[in-house]
Amino acid sequence: MSKRIVLAIVLLSAVLLISGCQQDQVTAEGPGVLATPAAKTVSAYELAKRLGLKVTDTAVTHITLKNSANTVLIFTHTGAEVFVNAKPIGQVGFIDRTNGTPLFSESLVQMIRSAMRAEGTIGATSTATYPRRLSGRVVIDAGHGGKDPGAKSCLGYYEKTINLQVAKKLAYLLRQRGLTVIMTRDNDTFVELEERAQIANRGNAQLFVSIHADSAARSSARGYTTYVAKSASWSAQKAARGIGQTMSGTGLDNLGVRKADYRVLVRTQCPAVLVELGYLSNYQEARLLRNNTFQNRLAQAIAEGIFDYFD
Ligand SMILES: [Zn+2]
Repeated sequence: MSKRIVLAIVLLSAVLLISGCQQDQVTAEGPGVLATPAAKTVSAYELAKRLGLKVTDTAVTHITLKNSANTVLIFTHTGAEVFVNAKPIGQVGFIDRTNGTPLFSESLVQMIRSAMRAEGTIGATSTATYPRRLSGRVVIDAGHGGKDPGAKSCLGYYEKTINLQVAKKLAYLLRQRGLTVIMTRDNDTFVELEERAQIANRGNAQLFVSIHADSAARSSARGYTTYVAKSASWSAQKAARGIGQTMSGTGLDNLGVRKADYRVLVRTQCPAVLVELGYLSNYQEARLLRNNTFQNRLAQAIAEGIFDYFD
């Protein structure tokens, strides 16, 4: 039943997109961004070549293009955001997958070029504009998984899916800045709570961040919360406050830092934070949380809080 609802929503979104209707913010893209069938498309390699970059990474979820002065990160879902040197610069627009390999709108060439730095200028330009590489070991824990689906959203999908999607994006952004990331799971598998903490302890992690999404009986409940253990160290509280602050950039309400003895917080030896991204029981937030572009924004916001912690 829930699958049918999701399918219906996906089909409806597609119809709205094709008809250019802008009512549905879930797939919001300006009409100018949408490639018509006649618009020119380019492959990742062609895009890289025209920008003087090399393709350094092609994954299912994203591609990375680089030269000595620039890192371009493109999430490969229609409507996803494009990052140049860790700054979001706009949306990727429509991605044509009819031949298997993704083809991008040619308009990306200009959009990315205008955000790139000239090569050989890193030392010359102010270092403030170039994010310093960081070092540190972070464990990212996507809550639930496998036989444990977590909360069910009012739109029918499960918490475990959202947690993993955001955790993966977050891990990617952290690695981009040089941090070592260990994920307690990177697919839909069940991992015991105790094991999640042990992964952090065995890996000598310096920070443990668990990603969850909230749910309440009251559908009006909304906002994000950061949790630390009742006996949390000053460092853990600092990390939770920092992540809470940077997450406010997403536009969601900050419900503040709360204390609760969740097993993953108590059993990890390093500072540990649990983030509840928003409420799956709230219609507006449930729509946002499954939206790829919004997930990128969330991941970026949490990443910034973690960067500040290690900076
Ligand atoms: Zn949860």
